[in-house]
Amino acid sequence: MEWEDSISRLKGVGEQREKKLNKLGIYTIEDLLTHYPRDYKDRSRLSKIIELQMDVENTFIACCKGNGETIKHGRFTFTRVKVADETGEVGMLWYNQPYMKTTLKPGDWYLFTGKLQNKYGRREFSVSEWEGIGENFAGGRIIPVYPGVEGISQKMLRGFMEAALEQVRGGLSEDIPLWLRKEYLLAERNFSIEQIHFPKTEQSFYDARRRLVFEEFFVLQGALFSLKSYMEETNKGIVLKNKKATEVFQNYLPFLLTHAQKRVLKEIEKDMSTGKQMNRLVQGDVGSGKTAVAMAASYWVIKNGYQAVLMAPTEVLAQQHFHSFSAIFENFGITTVLLTGGQSAKEKRISLEKVMSGEANMIIGTHAVIQKGVEYHKLGLAITDEQHRFGVGQRGALNQKGEDPHILVMTATPIPRTLALILYGDLDVSIIDELPPGRQTIDTMAVTTSYHERIYCFIEKQVQEGRQAYVICPMIEENEKLEVQSVLNYTEELQQKLSSCRVACVHGKMKPKEKQEIMNCFAKGEIHVLVSTTVIEVGINVPNAVIMLIENAERFGLAQLHQLRGRVGRGNEKSYCILVSDAKTKIAKQRLKVLTDSQDGFVISEMDLKLRGPGEFFGTRQHGLPELKIANIYQDMPILIEAQGAAKKLLTMDPFLSLEAHEEIKKRFAQFLEGKHLEI
Ligand code: ADP
Ligand code: MG
Repeated sequence: MEWEDSISRLKGVGEQREKKLNKLGIYTIEDLLTHYPRDYKDRSRLSKIIELQMDVENTFIACCKGNGETIKHGRFTFTRVKVADETGEVGMLWYNQPYMKTTLKPGDWYLFTGKLQNKYGRREFSVSEWEGIGENFAGGRIIPVYPGVEGISQKMLRGFMEAALEQVRGGLSEDIPLWLRKEYLLAERNFSIEQIHFPKTEQSFYDARRRLVFEEFFVLQGALFSLKSYMEETNKGIVLKNKKATEVFQNYLPFLLTHAQKRVLKEIEKDMSTGKQMNRLVQGDVGSGKTAVAMAASYWVIKNGYQAVLMAPTEVLAQQHFHSFSAIFENFGITTVLLTGGQSAKEKRISLEKVMSGEANMIIGTHAVIQKGVEYHKLGLAITDEQHRFGVGQRGALNQKGEDPHILVMTATPIPRTLALILYGDLDVSIIDELPPGRQTIDTMAVTTSYHERIYCFIEKQVQEGRQAYVICPMIEENEKLEVQSVLNYTEELQQKLSSCRVACVHGKMKPKEKQEIMNCFAKGEIHVLVSTTVIEVGINVPNAVIMLIENAERFGLAQLHQLRGRVGRGNEKSYCILVSDAKTKIAKQRLKVLTDSQDGFVISEMDLKLRGPGEFFGTRQHGLPELKIANIYQDMPILIEAQGAAKKLLTMDPFLSLEAHEEIKKRFAQFLEGKHLEI
């Protein structure tokens, strides 16, 4: 049997069980064997019957002493069987498994796990698991506990693992080159896979785990680094001419670029003029003005006769970019088109035709812009906005449209350097570390719900003075229906309280058109108070909105709250962020205090990490990280750093992995990049 074979080839896996295993993401032997245990139970220490302790889990072997009996108690059955070893006898008890009466064969030996309990007036061993033992029983062992699925018991999964290991044992090729394994003291692959499931000793478990964690990080990093060296070498970047062009463009902006914006633009210009393909990440806090930089870069590309495309994570954001780009690009006779999933078939067709013919110079949209059937006339630059919403795979898809267009990625998520490397290991990084002048700090306060009346008065007063407000009410669990209902109810209530204001809401179930209409009304000032869940989180720009009221603030991540807060304070008026929470825990209070104390995205995200624990912060989905099977980015940070070093070493020594010793790892990287592991 091969690593790639379907699990249906395993004994005991029929159609039904195959389907259930599929639910766990297990299709092949490889998937099965890389379905790693989430925990272990130590059943290596066997007790004698005389040593059994009450109410704690014990494992022992014993011989069946004759047929059992089953007693009915209403809807329940109790089945009892006597077993013995050389130190004594004990009664075994099964609930609702009457077949156990005759399953064990008198005279045969079995391994039992469970608890000795004193119930119903008897001392009995309540069995949680048992198995028959053959002649060559080698003693108890440490057994794995797997993330499971209904209908497949742990015992069954363990059986499949054993069967699969039996089949492929020793046959896995080693993909980490020997010299690296020596240098980083890594266990061999076959050994590790086997020991991670059924560790012989604690040490072999640690060795196995370290190797597998290392491997996972190494493949992730190595694949990204190799992509980078490959692209640098083979992708001929489009060479752009006449840098002066962007200076002319800047004259048409309603403001002067900040030093940081200028510096980043210079870095971009340099990339795009040297003949290399640009692959650059621009990181900048909310409101730092990433859009203007993207616009200047696009302008230059278009002046050189190419098209530029900007991909945004939501329809609303795409619309907004479309308006701000068209407004400025019109001055230069540049045609901007919009391409989103929410457009009518006709609108879409018209846009597509313009994209294909080259009539459209600037294309703005959602991921509709990378879909099949979108053909660019002459793509020179592909930009993704708010990158953390997209996975590495989608970035790749943009790259493949056109012939090696320059790539620019923009994100507002401040992340520590090591993690930036994992996420963007294939990118160069620029940072806009300065906000445009005149930005006011946003007064931020954390209050309890007892402040509601006062807050409403405050909102009414601000609206009377011509200002607007956002109100965020949190999502309810994962239930979209309930969520919509709660937003609607909340909005209605708020409308009653704020009778002099026009209140409206947007939510996830609305059609993009509807949502857009409401956003437009809000932008025009026809709606005063906009209620929503977090759909307005990214990128929305309405300078007249000065209040951000967030209900149940404790339910949001700090980085997310910071993003939300960034929606206000965009004009000249004093702005406010009000965090409402009745949470009483110390951590919850500390977290909100971080926001009232700081306006710096990097500081906030670091505190978020400290106070929340990494699991939540680096939810792989939110960051578009490929899902990790065994490694834990946080706990395993030291191994991550080693693996990064190793990947660098490997690619410095052999950038295209053309040495024979690197054949296997090259395949592995290629597999990884094919995208199977990159989907989000
Ligand atoms: P983000 O980096 O969050 O995407 P935007 O690009 O949306 O930020 O910019 C936020 C706001 O700041 C916009 O209203 C934009 O017009 C304005 N802006 C950008 N750069 C400058 C600047 N150099 N001076 C003044 N205002 C600026
Ligand atoms: Mg933005």
